[in-house]
Amino acid sequence: MLAAVLEDFNQLVLKDVPKPAATGDMVVLKVKSCGICLTDWKAITGHRRNVTFPSIQGHEFSGIVDEIGEGVKFFQPGEEVICSPVANCGICHECRSGFAQYCKNGAVIGGDGMDTVLDGAFAEYVLVPERALYQKPPNVTFDAAALTEPLAGCYKGMIEYSQLKITEDVVIIGSGSMGLLAAMIAERAGAASIILVDVDNWRLEFSKKCGATHLVNSAEVDAKEAVYDILPNGPDIVFEAAGPLPAAQLAFDLCRRGTRVNEFGVTTPGTINVSPAEIHWKETRVDASFSVYPRAMQQSIRLQEKGFVDAGKIITHWFPLDQIQDALATMDAPDRVKVMINP
Ligand SMILES: [Zn+2]
Ligand SMILES: [Zn+2]
Repeated sequence: MLAAVLEDFNQLVLKDVPKPAATGDMVVLKVKSCGICLTDWKAITGHRRNVTFPSIQGHEFSGIVDEIGEGVKFFQPGEEVICSPVANCGICHECRSGFAQYCKNGAVIGGDGMDTVLDGAFAEYVLVPERALYQKPPNVTFDAAALTEPLAGCYKGMIEYSQLKITEDVVIIGSGSMGLLAAMIAERAGAASIILVDVDNWRLEFSKKCGATHLVNSAEVDAKEAVYDILPNGPDIVFEAAGPLPAAQLAFDLCRRGTRVNEFGVTTPGTINVSPAEIHWKETRVDASFSVYPRAMQQSIRLQEKGFVDAGKIITHWFPLDQIQDALATMDAPDRVKVMINP
């Protein structure tokens, strides 16, 4: 089968490799769609160092069951499925406490965040544990279904952790894939105002399609002044989905008393200035959201099945697997959001 094998940093090689075989509780999927996530791009370019070689990246995917191991109980060849990149054991203390994303015995497929990392879906076929699979609703496209995991991450952060309620005012910092998916969830959940803050006007304009009610370019204006001009009483939730440390700083700077902050985007080391006393007096509630657990995956599928959210709206580019180099080059393009590989 054709696969994009990462042999070293900046050495992504398209080559023929043996097609995996399904044994035990493992399933071979024919990959239909796999999104390129910044996590993949960071692994390929060396911005992320915890990568083993050779490996296959790609963790946002959907496909068709091709072959099942003898221990597979719930899926049959030909079924259309969505795969979670998190295959948790279901038995450890973390799993049983409802925190499958911290599973001690888990494996991550084509990504990052657990000790065991399986090959991902920048390939014609991928081998995955049955427990990571979900049925794809027939009315959800393979492309949109491939974005179930990032959508689940935003759902988990915005709804389950930050507990967005109808009529609340939300500021989202960062209008990349995650910020836009978070905006769609906030819109559907009944947010009154959804202010998108970014430094890129093209992406800010794009965010209008995803529910943004106000746009703030923080490179052009003072973001705090602009947000308080729109919301004199300040935001109920500030959702940081940008990544750089100044975005995290801005999230705290935007708080009024009682604002809930979600540190969703920053994963790189470093510190910002936050005063515990100020957090006390303002009763700032700080949440974060790392990875996904099964309930968030199910809810994310349901959001799409019911037509509440169309994650496919954020896809701007499509490439076949044999053009993955062009797809990666597009990651630097000014007018892209989500880039999709269709092997
Ligand atoms: Zn991702
Ligand atoms: Zn576990």
